[in-house]
Amino acid sequence: MIITIDGPAGVGKSTVAQLLAKSLGFEFLNTGAMYRCAALASLEANIPIEQADKIVEHVKTLRFEQQGAKILLSGRDVTARIRESDVTKLVSPIASIIPLRLVLIDWQKEFANGRNIVTEGRDQGSVVFTNAECKIFLTASPEIRARRRTDELIAKGQQADYTQILQDQIERDQLDANRPFGALRPAEDSVVVQSDNLPIEAVLELLLQIAHSKMP
Ligand code: C5P
Repeated sequence: MIITIDGPAGVGKSTVAQLLAKSLGFEFLNTGAMYRCAALASLEANIPIEQADKIVEHVKTLRFEQQGAKILLSGRDVTARIRESDVTKLVSPIASIIPLRLVLIDWQKEFANGRNIVTEGRDQGSVVFTNAECKIFLTASPEIRARRRTDELIAKGQQADYTQILQDQIERDQLDANRPFGALRPAEDSVVVQSDNLPIEAVLELLLQIAHSKMP
């Protein structure tokens, strides 16, 4: 069975998708981490965004692995590095390169092959796994998402500027929603979950109910 969770930046998809996968005994796939790895790789190889073909060829030589919450790029632990601001700034432009998306979609399908998975991203229900049994679109207002992200960073002892976080998030969502292929949007047959007033436990409970209702 495939469960897709799509939605905008900072909505908590990956946290809730991991919890849902754990509760159901499914595997979890974080496709945002794949795009982040591609952005990091192009930064490290000094390939400018204008040289899309070179970026695609370079990414094809790499190996993406996910071990629980840990992300390995060709064997190297890049879990923290891919969350840094230089990678976050570049990731949407990188994700608009269609041939790159096709490479990563192949990786995503390979990962899903023969497995029960919860996969999260932007296009998992609308493009990649159009036949998924259960499709969820998780959303929340930009202000609530930016507030949660700010509080999360402060709790970790890091600096956080709410206004900057909100602005960056809006910019990234606009880029993600307006690309011609693989855009951020709910699949027609998805269940939209608005999480503005819901704590994480309640979101998980709701997603579990939806998943159970779609099980064969
Ligand atoms: O989910 P996360 O914020 O880590 O995703 C980073 C970026 O990767 C998104 O802003 C988007 O541009 C891209 N992405 C995508 N398609 C996916 C997952 C992520 O284009 N399925």
